[in-house]
Amino acid sequence: MPKKVVVIGGGIAGIQACLDIAEMGYEVHLVERTPSIGGRMAQLDKTFPTNDCSLCILSPKMIMCAGHENIKLHTYSEIQSVGGEFPRFKVRIREKARHIAINRCTGCGDCVTKCPVKVPNEFEEGLSTRKAIYLPFPQAVPRKVTIDAVHCRMITEKKCGVCKKVCQAGAIDYDQKDALVDIVAAAIVVTTGFDLFDASALRQYGLGACKDVVTSLQLERILSAAGPTGGHLVRPSDGKEPKKLAFVQCVGSRDAKMFQYCSSVCCMYATKESILVREHVPDVESTIFYMDMRATGKGFQEFVNRAEKQYGVRYMRSRPASVQPAHGESGVLVTYEMVGGITGQKTEEFDMLILCPALVPSRGSEELSGLLKIELDKDKFASTPSWKNPIDSTRRGVLVCGFAAEPMDIPDSVAQASGVASRIGELLQGVS
Ligand SMILES: Cc1cc2nc3c(=O)[nH]c(=O)nc-3n(C[C@H](O)[C@H](O)[C@H](O)COP(=O)(O)OP(=O)(O)OC[C@H]3O[C@@H](n4cnc5c(N)ncnc54)[C@H](O)[C@@H]3O)c2cc1C
Repeated sequence: MPKKVVVIGGGIAGIQACLDIAEMGYEVHLVERTPSIGGRMAQLDKTFPTNDCSLCILSPKMIMCAGHENIKLHTYSEIQSVGGEFPRFKVRIREKARHIAINRCTGCGDCVTKCPVKVPNEFEEGLSTRKAIYLPFPQAVPRKVTIDAVHCRMITEKKCGVCKKVCQAGAIDYDQKDALVDIVAAAIVVTTGFDLFDASALRQYGLGACKDVVTSLQLERILSAAGPTGGHLVRPSDGKEPKKLAFVQCVGSRDAKMFQYCSSVCCMYATKESILVREHVPDVESTIFYMDMRATGKGFQEFVNRAEKQYGVRYMRSRPASVQPAHGESGVLVTYEMVGGITGQKTEEFDMLILCPALVPSRGSEELSGLLKIELDKDKFASTPSWKNPIDSTRRGVLVCGFAAEPMDIPDSVAQASGVASRIGELLQGVS
């Protein structure tokens, strides 16, 4: 019987770890909280520094993961408890009720079309709505719908039942209950990634108060051809094409009162987004308000140079002090400190403002660390104390990679995931 490994989190780091561990002959159980694997990378339009299409790289890996004979997906699932010790952890997984017979659902979408309930779409960062029965995004893996029990009128009020009537496959099951799955795992990998800090808490930046202030992840969705605007760069207030954009770096990060650490990827993705917007609106101008430029990866400085010289991106070493609506609900007035030997403040009008918020450990990371009995560092990322093996957590047999360990980009997450696989091979060698 092959030894089993549980991987928690189905973003790019978790997917890569699963693929590599499965290729070594172990049986891998991937536990993903949402209905589909893919993580944040699935939400991105393109990736720096090459500006390759994100899903074109990710989708084949997602499909390989689902089709691999040694990988079992537990989507819409969470870890309920962890007992035992290395190399015999007793892991209990709660597979939440999707209210769908997953083997019957064909993913045809007839139920989604007919469902009358609309709620904010998490995948689209609230820029559009989804139905109470939904596929999170078109390339979702597995391609199975889920009923959101909190909003389904049949489950909450015993009214409706439309999806059951239209489902030709007979896949709807309103009475389905959560299922518990027990695994004895030789090792556990934590790849739970990150969330965006809610920047509306920093009121000076206007998120929530000014319609044309959005987050960087919302801009990724606006730029995506499959996104809420069909890939047209338009501002939320009036649907017009913006001609003058500004980005604000370090919203909450590198801030003594908020999150002291650097979120690591924002300098580069803001640069990427300021290049991409030009592909959508050729005469759009971008300004990036930043503290220091952190372009430390391969080809990164060249990428920044190209943005500045070829795309005319204006890098402004200054931190905006306040953001106000400009004309009624449209546009924003940004007040910032002057730089370059000039003192005083300047107020400048922009059509749209994009905030780059601190990237923080995923919701629930503290509870999960309690279940796993691993320590977190002062910023609440998983602690990885050994410089010899920076993918080892504080507990033998529990490994960590990707953003769950510390802020890092996709190439580093992938490299760490492969490192975790080889470390597992090393740890389990000779273990019966
Ligand atoms: C706006 C923006 C643009 C970016 N652009 C780029 C770019 O162009 N190039 C680049 O290299 N990087 C970019 N990044 C960074 C990139 O998103 C991360 O490097 C990458 O997503 C890290 O992958 P991950 O698998 O570690 O985490 P994630 O992608 O966050 O995946 C974590 C997964 O774990 C799941 N999960 C969380 N908690 C639990 C739990 N308790 N149980 C089960 N599952 C759980 C989540 O649902 C998610 O599916 C960007 C980031 C942002 C915010």
